[in-house]
Amino acid sequence: MSAPDPDCLFCKIVTGDIPAEIVHQTPSVVAFRDVAPQAPTHVLVVPREHQPDAAALASASPTTVADLVTAAQTVAETDGLGGDYRLVFNTGVGAGQTVFHTHLHLLGGRPMTWPPG
Ligand code: 5GP
Ligand code: ZN
Repeated sequence: MSAPDPDCLFCKIVTGDIPAEIVHQTPSVVAFRDVAPQAPTHVLVVPREHQPDAAALASASPTTVADLVTAAQTVAETDGLGGDYRLVFNTGVGAGQTVFHTHLHLLGGRPMTWPPG
């Protein structure tokens, strides 16, 4: 597993150095509410290990990608979303990625439009 990046916001949330509203944790992932929610439920599920994006995580630690999805499903159930939610990995600046520590967005609790902007 890669070491925490001292300059990474989400590494600091994982280690508890920056506070967040954590809603679920496992040995491999942490889920916390987005500070600027875009839906009634907007949770970020992140690996404990620092990897910059989903593809890098898939190469370094493929089972952790499945752990992210499983954790998102658990939070969706806890938040009462039933089976209706959206999962998003923004990858790259051009796609809207602003934090370069892999994070799976869980969005739900309102009707979802398609395609996303
Ligand atoms: P991205 O744009 O990289 O896909 O998603 C980054 C997300 O992190 C954004 O939705 C943004 O609102 C959220 N975010 C940024 N800083 C913080 C923070 O300090 N705490 C929390 N909980 N979320 C943050
Ligand atoms: Zn990190």
